[in-house]
Amino acid sequence: MSSGWSGLVKVVREWMRWRCHICGFDVIEGQRFGYLPGKGFIHIECLYDKLKELFPDGIPEDVLAAVEAEEIASYGIIRIKQVEYMVGDEYRDEVVRIRKKFEGASADAGKLIHKLLERYNVSIK
Ligand SMILES: [Zn+2]
Repeated sequence: MSSGWSGLVKVVREWMRWRCHICGFDVIEGQRFGYLPGKGFIHIECLYDKLKELFPDGIPEDVLAAVEAEEIASYGIIRIKQVEYMVGDEYRDEVVRIRKKFEGASADAGKLIHKLLERYNVSIK
């Protein structure tokens, strides 16, 4: 694969990375957000609004629990990024490894939300 192509993939990824699938606005550093498979990044607040729309009689407990997991992971990412800035250069890589685990947890929570929404036969457009 040529470096031109991988450069393009990187640009597309960067472009996709910071827009909320639901509201279309940028996801700004410090905001809580998650990632839904097949959809992309979403603000946690936008996700709640969308779920209220999809479940007018109340969001099911298990869906709320999965969003809670996403919210916790998302909060972890924000907090650990602050630690990244605070810690000295010598230990930054170790903190980055911790952040990657929170990001993995966030991705897993997104997968769980996705599975539950499929089970309830609703989908975020
Ligand atoms: Zn949004």
